Amino acid sequence: MDIQKIKKLVTKNKPNVDITMLELAYEFAHEAHLGQKRLTGEDYIQHSLHTAYTLAEIKSELPTIIAGLLHDVPEDTKRNLDDIEKDFGSEIRFLVEGITKLSNIKYRGVERQRESLRKMFMAMARDLRVIIIKFADRLHNLRTIEAHREDKKIRIAQETLEIYVPIAGLLGMWRLKWQMEDICFKYLFPEDFRKLEYKYEIEKKTERNQFIAKVKKQLGEKLDQEKLNYIIEGRFKHLYSIYQKMQRKNRKFHEIYDVFALRIIVDTIADCYRVMGIIHSIWKPKTSRIKDYIAMPKPNGYQSLHTTVFGPDGKATEFQIRTYRMHEEALHGIAAHWHYKEMNNNNQPKWIQEILDIQKEAQDTNDFIRKLKLNVFSDRIFVFSPKGEVFELSADATPIDYAYHIHTDIGHKATGAVINNRMSTLDQKLKNGDMIEIITNQSRKGPNKNWLKFVKGRTARNKIKQYFKRSTLESIRKLISRGK
Ligand code: MN
Repeated sequence: MDIQKIKKLVTKNKPNVDITMLELAYEFAHEAHLGQKRLTGEDYIQHSLHTAYTLAEIKSELPTIIAGLLHDVPEDTKRNLDDIEKDFGSEIRFLVEGITKLSNIKYRGVERQRESLRKMFMAMARDLRVIIIKFADRLHNLRTIEAHREDKKIRIAQETLEIYVPIAGLLGMWRLKWQMEDICFKYLFPEDFRKLEYKYEIEKKTERNQFIAKVKKQLGEKLDQEKLNYIIEGRFKHLYSIYQKMQRKNRKFHEIYDVFALRIIVDTIADCYRVMGIIHSIWKPKTSRIKDYIAMPKPNGYQSLHTTVFGPDGKATEFQIRTYRMHEEALHGIAAHWHYKEMNNNNQPKWIQEILDIQKEAQDTNDFIRKLKLNVFSDRIFVFSPKGEVFELSADATPIDYAYHIHTDIGHKATGAVINNRMSTLDQKLKNGDMIEIITNQSRKGPNKNWLKFVKGRTARNKIKQYFKRSTLESIRKLISRGK
């Protein structure tokens, strides 16, 4: 990796940007790290360059990329934060300082994990860019993990999977998340990784490529006729997500990997709909699988058109159609936002604000950590209201839990639920990211006793029990007064 490559990418992303500071930052970091080597034997500056390159790849703004180049300077060299501030100003100092603070973790074992979680969220609360730089730093550390001792490899991979990956998911940074996950998968479950990699890369590869070439040719001709500007890519399905699906559903590889998936990227929203029309004119769509996330974005802001058709040879083929901008946002989440508009409290997704609020409301560090762990780890799920508000529920929660979480009366009067725009029963298990709407009937008197059989959270359970206790008391009272 060299600075030229980064400069090229930065100017490609933003043609008129002044990269003088970037060049100066490179010289500064290069000189500061001179003579230092990584465990791999490479010059230390390679790590700084790779970190900065990843940041440029996800279209970060220049200060973030510069801070990426400088991120290990105060920690590992004679130059300190004051030197950085003198040459690059207070914003860059602030970012580099944030990363430096993140890296000093004194504890071991569970305590260490808590400490690093706390620090990640603290950093996030101060400036999200610090976390993004930390992800880029971690990605390169993972890519060079081979140089470490066996036990350290496992520790790094575990820590990444437990702490970095969920946070990357929360921030919608899917591409970085997948990249980190696949490396962790390789080191934590080497056997399973190799088997799956073989199946995916060797056994299926030719079949997949031939099929995609066929689709591209057939569809490309029509798109050219319409004079559309487009890119067709065979979608990369990353191994860890296939593995997780196999584990979760106890399925074999071919049962999971049965749908060919392609993505089409175009200039405008109008083009997206035109492309969908063209696809449907060539292949018959599966009507239940047409989704318009452009008109109705997912609660996390995701936009695309989805359709599954009976493609060449009658094979189920899934298309995602989106604009370049939607594509960037879908891959890079929060990081892509800076590219298009400055982040401020108004266009920050609500759930980030909620995480920050937890930090403010926490009584002490332990309380804070406990609440954060609940948010990040698997014993909790996040669901959304139709307005996009985030609610935290216990794992396996049902629409009834959600209803009581919103308001006792909504719980008492619930008659049905709509999950992700589909009618559902009240005992359906909710999943992370579900959007839920509760249907109520005002003439309904109260809850159903059977609900106690499936509700998961204490709130709902208590409220239902209270209702019945009260109504029993009331009927006793009525009986007594009638008897008088
Ligand atoms: Mn580093």
